[in-house]
Amino acid sequence: MGRVIAIANQKGGVGKTTTAVNLAASMAATRRKVLLIDLDPQGNATMGSGIDKYDLEYTAYHILVDDKPVQDVAVHSEDVKFDIIGANADVTAAEIKLMEVFARETKLRRALEPVRDQYDFIFIDCPPSLNLLTVNAMAAADAILVPMQCEYYALEGLTALMDTIEQLASVVNPNLVIEGILRTMYDPRNRLANDVSEQLKNHFGSKVYRTVIPRNVRLAEAPSFGAPVMYYDKSSTGSKAYLALAGEVIRRAEQENQAAQTS
Ligand code: ADP
Ligand code: MG
Repeated sequence: MGRVIAIANQKGGVGKTTTAVNLAASMAATRRKVLLIDLDPQGNATMGSGIDKYDLEYTAYHILVDDKPVQDVAVHSEDVKFDIIGANADVTAAEIKLMEVFARETKLRRALEPVRDQYDFIFIDCPPSLNLLTVNAMAAADAILVPMQCEYYALEGLTALMDTIEQLASVVNPNLVIEGILRTMYDPRNRLANDVSEQLKNHFGSKVYRTVIPRNVRLAEAPSFGAPVMYYDKSSTGSKAYLALAGEVIRRAEQENQAAQTS
């Protein structure tokens, strides 16, 4: 059964989309079957995976509002070796239309049920807000991966996010857990970043991934070529970091599977 991981943080510009695209590509490169769901109307994960958001016949909108089956909406890209449910401006309308829909919080979860066992990992790139789209992602997910920058207000924002996740989980998804906290755009020469990183580890312990994503210009350039960084510059520090992260996420998932089997 595929593990569904929502990549979420209500803050914009923390590396959610970069993580979604590059983690999906790294996983796919290790021969895992991967589905990436773009739930942000900006469609950056779609474009960053090499799919033109203006050319999409169907998007996440059609899953959430029109009950289109996932297999009719997802497109496979041989370039990146994973499946994508794309997004564009249409998905903004989904948020509004969902208001009228019965059991609107669990639309995505129900849509994914029939296809979950076809994938090893399903990643959901969330918009930078706590709207119905994000709620759908959290209701559908087994776990949340939180990318964050190690800056002054980061811990405050993180505590607020944890509270929200807890409240949401108690209503729509009691089994939801924090998969991990990922330090992004990290600059080890920055003292504040090091301090915040230490506090983070003290506070959240093993939930903090060992892998750190460095600030790397290749990661910022790759989307303009419509490619994950590993297909743009394989030897870059960014590419290596996301491959390492994929390894860590796979190991954690295996450990959980084992724990589930022995309990
Ligand atoms: P979010 O999805 O959380 O809004 P993005 O992944 O779109 O964040 O990242 C915000 C900006 O920062 C983008 O321009 C992206 O290319 C850039 N970026 C993300 N991660 C890195 C990194 N590790 N190093 C350099 N630039 C990065
Ligand atoms: Mg984004």
